Amino acid sequence: MSWSIYETIEEYLSAFSEIDDPYLSEKGADLKDVGYRLLHFLGHELLAETQKEGILVIEELLPGDMARLDPNRIKGIITSSGGIVSHAAILARSLRIPGICLEPELMKRIHEGDLIALDGKNGTAVVHPGEELMAAFKRRLVLEEQHQEHLDQFRDKPCKTKDGVRINVLANIAMENDLNQLFRHGAEGIGLYRTEIFFLSLDRYPEIEEQVEVYQKVFDSIPQEQPLMIRTLDLGADKAAPYMGYPHEGNPYLGCRALRRQLRKPRVLKNQLKSILLASKNREKLSLIFPMVTDVHEIRQAKKLLHECAADLGNQYNPAKLPEIGMMFEVPSSFMISERFMQVIDYCAIGSNDLTQYLLAVDRNNPQISHLYDPLHPAVLQLIKILIDNANRHQKPVELCGEMASDPDGCVILVGLGLRIFSMNAPLIPTVKERLSLITMPEAVRLAEKSLQSESALEVRNLVRAHFQEPLLQTDPIRPTVPS
Ligand code: PEP
Ligand code: MG
Repeated sequence: MSWSIYETIEEYLSAFSEIDDPYLSEKGADLKDVGYRLLHFLGHELLAETQKEGILVIEELLPGDMARLDPNRIKGIITSSGGIVSHAAILARSLRIPGICLEPELMKRIHEGDLIALDGKNGTAVVHPGEELMAAFKRRLVLEEQHQEHLDQFRDKPCKTKDGVRINVLANIAMENDLNQLFRHGAEGIGLYRTEIFFLSLDRYPEIEEQVEVYQKVFDSIPQEQPLMIRTLDLGADKAAPYMGYPHEGNPYLGCRALRRQLRKPRVLKNQLKSILLASKNREKLSLIFPMVTDVHEIRQAKKLLHECAADLGNQYNPAKLPEIGMMFEVPSSFMISERFMQVIDYCAIGSNDLTQYLLAVDRNNPQISHLYDPLHPAVLQLIKILIDNANRHQKPVELCGEMASDPDGCVILVGLGLRIFSMNAPLIPTVKERLSLITMPEAVRLAEKSLQSESALEVRNLVRAHFQEPLLQTDPIRPTVPS
């Protein structure tokens, strides 16, 4: 019976997707939600909300699914869509869940209950591995553990280049589980708190009291002297839940996403801002980061809302204590006019994941073109350089919190471009500390200067690899969806 329900839902969904009227077409999402819930209650685990333990094989995994899954039960993930920097992949990586992306045809060869050996690093999966292969996988695991122990020695050491230039390494967090990882890996604060993931784990917008409780828990976990950047809701595109009722958009990544949506309908943002202010009453250092900003007017409007919220709270909040204002630099135009933003913000956060997709016109979620998606493309580096120079001129701190910060080639080039604050998934901090301890600042600057003149990301990567006497890449690396 479950199967016929599933087929009927899929049939209707495909019919809804062909409707031109956006209002009616959007109703497909409600149908999907109701239908999948029905299947769930019938005991058929089509939703990613499975209670089972093992490797999850699922066509598409959305960030909302990740937020609802129990990471202790999921040992690996196999999908047939999503890229290395899709939000779901980033969340899985922060939980150290290995995953890969397979061709849909190959996925069909996997069946419920199959024994699978999954190699997140190389992007391979073996169904029914024989004894010999299992033994080889186990040997690899032991080597991985030994390497991890070697990296652990960097946990309590400050991040420095070989010639002693100090770099700050902060952590990106999204879910409560991430807090456990923070100090285990030597994070020096939070550079990006992706608050929308909590919203995606629910079936309705959280009340102010609920939000205060969640934010307070995070704020209390971070020592007062450490930086803490909380990002306001970056919802839209792949980060939307049915209850949000977002209309269907032809190009959702270029659409009414994040701050754009909230400035049009400010109620949700205002509730979030009030919650953050209330939760931060005892916090000394806090920066708000607004996502997906294109022009200065948007920041002015967001600041106005913040002041309104502080006023609405009356004597519950001291308006003299407002957080610092930061913004995500992730839309290419904002880099080009970054000088003008410096008058209205206190802090710059570079979102290299979105910057790369927008500048190179490569969807970050599409595995078919993932070989074209590379933040080390010289065009991306040139925009980052413009921003760092402008921020330095105006003495505004600048961090980079996209996946590029933890890329072993990327971190070297970024240091050479002048970046001193990195934010990343906490488990990757020791790897970056080790990498940067092996290069001097003049060497990194020289590599960065050459990179700006390069023709391709491949050339940039090979500059770094040649420096470290590592094997050169012949083509852009075909990377797994979620490397372990
Ligand atoms: C980015 O775009 O680089 C970023 C950090 O934000 P997100 O990955 O959440 O879009
Ligand atoms: Mg982004």
